[in-house]
Amino acid sequence: MDDDPHLADEEDVEDAGEDMAQVPGELKALRACKRCALVKTLTQFTEQGCENCPFLRIEESAERVHECTSSYFSGMIAMLNPKESWVARWQRIRAFKPGMYAIEVIGEFPPHDQEYMAENGIRWQCKPPSK
Ligand SMILES: [Zn+2]
Repeated sequence: MDDDPHLADEEDVEDAGEDMAQVPGELKALRACKRCALVKTLTQFTEQGCENCPFLRIEESAERVHECTSSYFSGMIAMLNPKESWVARWQRIRAFKPGMYAIEVIGEFPPHDQEYMAENGIRWQCKPPSK
């Protein structure tokens, strides 16, 4: 009887809270949301969109995933308690859900998205590539 009953319950980690953003399940095909810098896999964005930016409707089509997320980003930080973390304050992502975030996202939104966000006072994180 070497079976450790505790090992069976590892799935609890996935139940950490409905309020938490998805965490990337693998380290390939990662992309970052151009608006909030949330990092997830291409598949996760395709299926669920971005938890912080439902108005972008990223999950609507593969095209939206490519318009609103970028595979060109640097740095990744785990943000487990955005309301209290000094990192969150520095990153200005206090209002966002716990998850993995990129420190810098390179890319640009299509003009209509930029217009929509500017009109609604929504800030976004991505920066256009420097030449
Ligand atoms: Zn987002």
